[in-house]
Amino acid sequence: MSVNQQAHSGPPYGQPQPAYQRYQQPGYGGQQMPGVPHSQYGVYNGPVPGHQQPAPPQGYFPSLGLPSKGSPVSLNSDTSSLAPNFIGPLRTPPTSGAPPPTSGAPLPVGQPAYNQFGQGDVQNGIPASAVQMQRLSVSQPFIPGSTPTSISQLSSFQQYGPSPTSAQQLTNHMARMTIGSVPTSAAPPAGLGYGPSTSVPPASGSFTATGSGLYTPYSSSQGPPPASMTHGLPPTSLSQGVPLAQPAFSGLPLSMQRLPSQGPGYAPPPSSTGIGPSNYPSTTGAPRPSTMQSPPLSGQALAGLPASQPNHLSSPPPQQAMSGPHPGPPMTGLQGPPPPPTHPSQPGYQIQQNGSFGQVRGSQPNYGGAYPGTPNYGSQPGPPPPPKRLDPDSIPSPQLSELPPQQKSRHRIDPDAIPSPIQVIEDDRNNRGSEPFVTGVRGQVPPLVTTNFLVKDQGNTSPRYIRCTSYNIPCTSDMAKQSQVPLAAVIKPLAMLPTEETPPYLVDHGESGPIRCNRCKAYMCPFMQFIEGGRRFQCCFCSCVTEVPPHYFQHLDHTGKRVDFYDRPELSLGSYEFLATVDYCKNNKFPNPPAFIFMIDVSYNAVKSGLVRLICEELKSLLDYLPRGGNLEESAIRVGFVTYNKVLHFYNVKSSLAQPQMMVVSDVADMFVPLLDGFLVNVNESRTVIASLLDQIPEMFADTRETETVFAPVIQAGLDALKAAECAGKLFIFHTSLPIAEAPGKLKNRDDKKLINTDKEKTLFQPQTNFYNNLAKDCVAQGCCVDLFLFPNQYLDVATLGVVTYQTGGSIYKYTYFQLETDQERFLNDLRRDVQKEVGFDAVMRVRTSTGIRATDFFGAFYMSNTTDVELAGLDCDKTITVEFKHDDKLSEDSGALLQCALLYTSSAGQRRLRIHNLSLNCCTQLADLYRNCETDTLINYLAKYAYRGVLNNPVKTVRDALINQCAQILACYRKNCASPSSAGQLILPECMKLLPVYLNCVLKSDVLQPGPEVSTDDRAYIRQLVTSMDVAETNVFFYPRLLPLTKVDVDSDALPAAIRNSEERLSKGDMYLLENGLNIFVWVGVNVQQGLIQNLFGVSSFSQISNTMSTLPILENPFSKKVRSIMDMLQAQRSRYMKLIIVKQEDKFEMLFKHFLVEDKSMSGGASYVDFLCHMHKEIRQLLS
Ligand SMILES: [Zn+2]
Repeated sequence: MSVNQQAHSGPPYGQPQPAYQRYQQPGYGGQQMPGVPHSQYGVYNGPVPGHQQPAPPQGYFPSLGLPSKGSPVSLNSDTSSLAPNFIGPLRTPPTSGAPPPTSGAPLPVGQPAYNQFGQGDVQNGIPASAVQMQRLSVSQPFIPGSTPTSISQLSSFQQYGPSPTSAQQLTNHMARMTIGSVPTSAAPPAGLGYGPSTSVPPASGSFTATGSGLYTPYSSSQGPPPASMTHGLPPTSLSQGVPLAQPAFSGLPLSMQRLPSQGPGYAPPPSSTGIGPSNYPSTTGAPRPSTMQSPPLSGQALAGLPASQPNHLSSPPPQQAMSGPHPGPPMTGLQGPPPPPTHPSQPGYQIQQNGSFGQVRGSQPNYGGAYPGTPNYGSQPGPPPPPKRLDPDSIPSPQLSELPPQQKSRHRIDPDAIPSPIQVIEDDRNNRGSEPFVTGVRGQVPPLVTTNFLVKDQGNTSPRYIRCTSYNIPCTSDMAKQSQVPLAAVIKPLAMLPTEETPPYLVDHGESGPIRCNRCKAYMCPFMQFIEGGRRFQCCFCSCVTEVPPHYFQHLDHTGKRVDFYDRPELSLGSYEFLATVDYCKNNKFPNPPAFIFMIDVSYNAVKSGLVRLICEELKSLLDYLPRGGNLEESAIRVGFVTYNKVLHFYNVKSSLAQPQMMVVSDVADMFVPLLDGFLVNVNESRTVIASLLDQIPEMFADTRETETVFAPVIQAGLDALKAAECAGKLFIFHTSLPIAEAPGKLKNRDDKKLINTDKEKTLFQPQTNFYNNLAKDCVAQGCCVDLFLFPNQYLDVATLGVVTYQTGGSIYKYTYFQLETDQERFLNDLRRDVQKEVGFDAVMRVRTSTGIRATDFFGAFYMSNTTDVELAGLDCDKTITVEFKHDDKLSEDSGALLQCALLYTSSAGQRRLRIHNLSLNCCTQLADLYRNCETDTLINYLAKYAYRGVLNNPVKTVRDALINQCAQILACYRKNCASPSSAGQLILPECMKLLPVYLNCVLKSDVLQPGPEVSTDDRAYIRQLVTSMDVAETNVFFYPRLLPLTKVDVDSDALPAAIRNSEERLSKGDMYLLENGLNIFVWVGVNVQQGLIQNLFGVSSFSQISNTMSTLPILENPFSKKVRSIMDMLQAQRSRYMKLIIVKQEDKFEMLFKHFLVEDKSMSGGASYVDFLCHMHKEIRQLLS
């Protein structure tokens, strides 16, 4: 589409191409830029006519009579014998209980902001911060008032709280190893060599010369490694004092940077970012980041793992048949029948005695001299102590005093001696949380997603928008294949930013539109090179030279940089927006503002549960908080209402009516919209009519006995209404049951859990008919995004019902066994957030890359009609698209690799915009550089999405095995090519990937890939769909939940208690714990918790009196209760969905639910414990190496 279509279909040097050639619909309505009073929009200004109601098609008589077909009738003709009394009391607009407004401050008229004429001040050297202060953001991201996520709020929890938005991440600076063993005798020669990596200070700054390759034992002290191992570097990625004018991309080979002579404190010169190689404003006050953060090449030697482990994933133990924990986040079991009695859990893991620890296989001849990096390490001064082989028998097991006797004897490997996610997260937080992440340098690995940090855009996009599996890409395809490390970017184009960060500026180039490369159509960005005195520019993606249009011409300074560099976001920033011209709109017409249509199931279950009344009550206030596109007085979004069971009821809520009018369409086989005028209305204008309608709907259907529903005709109706109104929009469908009524898209119950672990298991994930795929395609063409709220009491085939939602970029929510008392708060919070959040409509995303790599595969909720354009009927601030890249040529270390993500969309104000994100990556000829710049959290995000898509077409076991194999190859390649020679009995993990085994195991044990008997087919389909759109922070906490000891809460501090590892043996009977995974919050209460704490938190006097049916904690006026509730509020605010609270008492039947999330333990569904899986991976790696 427009983003791409121009690139592909246009003549190489073409003029503006008529975009949207594919669209054949009668076009968008008159153009308007509602509420955009800026002078820079002058070109579009003109009268803002408001919404023109399109003339109704012939044959339809809106609100006055019967349509020409079907059997729609007006009031009182409901075929379901309801009481359509439309004479009801008028309600005044509700105001209470409403979520706060979401839009940012209105932009003053005439606000200069960014425009093509700049600010008049074109000197170089304007401090970036100063410039930013002047620029008022025009594109204000959605920041829901009701769900505060700003860093300011969270900063108080900085110590432990993950970053409030999804931007976060993980990297390599854990220079010290969490595991193991520092010193020893058997010094592997090259083990010393890890030192060289020390010459390049890792981003963390607290880089350990000695420990880089070693596991330092945290078992003895949970604190940081010995101080002697830490250089006196600042604890951030920034190296102060590096001249700002340094060329940005150091052409210095990485190997040189590791030269021992450079010493530990050596900071390589900043590399050139290609954006104006020099003269970063030295007044910004932001220290310049050190260049490549090459964390020490660290092999973590974990010696002594058993060579073979009988228990691994491919052979699940017989317990699988046992009734296991309720695994799925949806937690159906809670509202439904209680889980059957369960077997006593088996904490700990079975000892595997058949392996021999520390087994040495003798020399490994193929390692000799085969390590590319070895020579560099050889001369390293001050070699670190050689890695010590773990002697499992000599390692004290943790908390032995708390373990039951039979566990003590089983521990052969100290769980504290294997890489700890908690330690990695803590270290990153401590090392990188205090300084802003400045994006001016190519290939920087950002802090982890769990670290709270600020971002300063200096030419590369923020990690909140794009995170990569590696920030250093192999130069050749062969290298990439050898390593098996997937090259992928996780992109969240409309991510919310914390309030401290500046949203992307809006650039208006007037009628001529954005400046683009003539050949590849890439958009102007900081990496384009201006030549010939500024008259032409050379494309950084395809090298084509393009004339600079006269109106865009500017002189260059002595460094070759345009003198207006700092005045133009598209020249100096990684992320910005362009105002799109009419060429970027369907049929060359500016779009109408979008519409929201609320479509409510009014069948028996929906009415009886109180759901219908709840929705109607909520909408009365919620409609005042529709997204406003940042700067409008009121939302431009129009709304419409439909109810349905076996038939559909449309409502005329035109402002001139005294009462709403209903029209019934019972011909669901040939859906049409019986009214045009009066169906989609402005909330303010029709306020009283809408309020009256929402009052009447619950009454009208109060006595319904209709249990059957249709589904596809509902979507079809919404789609047709948007088509008729010539706008994009979103359908909010509230649905309760499998659509078995006679209609297109009718479904049958085909649930069959016997298919699990068979070749036909994949069918459970596939839609049962193609009907919905075709419907989705039509929706995408219209920009009709479908959000689905499901309230099932039984199977309703999420795999099929979710197809349209999935392909239109919508969201799906599921409230199994919905009960008003327990689920109302969660549902309403989800609904409020979903309605209020900023959405880009009718969007197309294209990812361009510099020569040598290209985007080859895409994961997420969208539709693709060709191989390059990601089409999204809607894209909201929470949705993520993961993109995989492959080589199609060689890359060069000098030029690196560039990504440009361009998203064309219609804002909620109806404005057509392009959002651009640019990111530059390094390229390497040494595998070690790849492994040093990986991000495991992003890798897991990719692998999970890859696997979750794989189950559509492959047996689940095949998918699991493929995952294990790929990761084994990744780690084996490191071992073979990057690690120092050592005995095969040692497991050596790259520093940046030391958590890969534990996280991968969590993916393998997840409900989609290895379901327990309690997991429903719908839950699996639901989870599969959710994960596919998750960002890195969400997958991180989803697969490895956060576990906080509540008795460690300091009520006088804003800090969260330190998290602990997800294993039962870490739990104390005398403590309470909070566990969250993004979908659920558990509070686990030990049997020996002090009575006073129970009283303070639950308001009851004893353990036995705690109710595990409560859905919220009681509001008690004591510091402990307040603190715990504030922690929960903070966690809720961080997540895109409201998490369900589940109280679990130790030794209670619900404890099985909780234990399912203790992901380091063996799972009841047969998933391996972390220790066992690590041993299994070790075995796989050894097989690959032998
Ligand atoms: Zn180009």
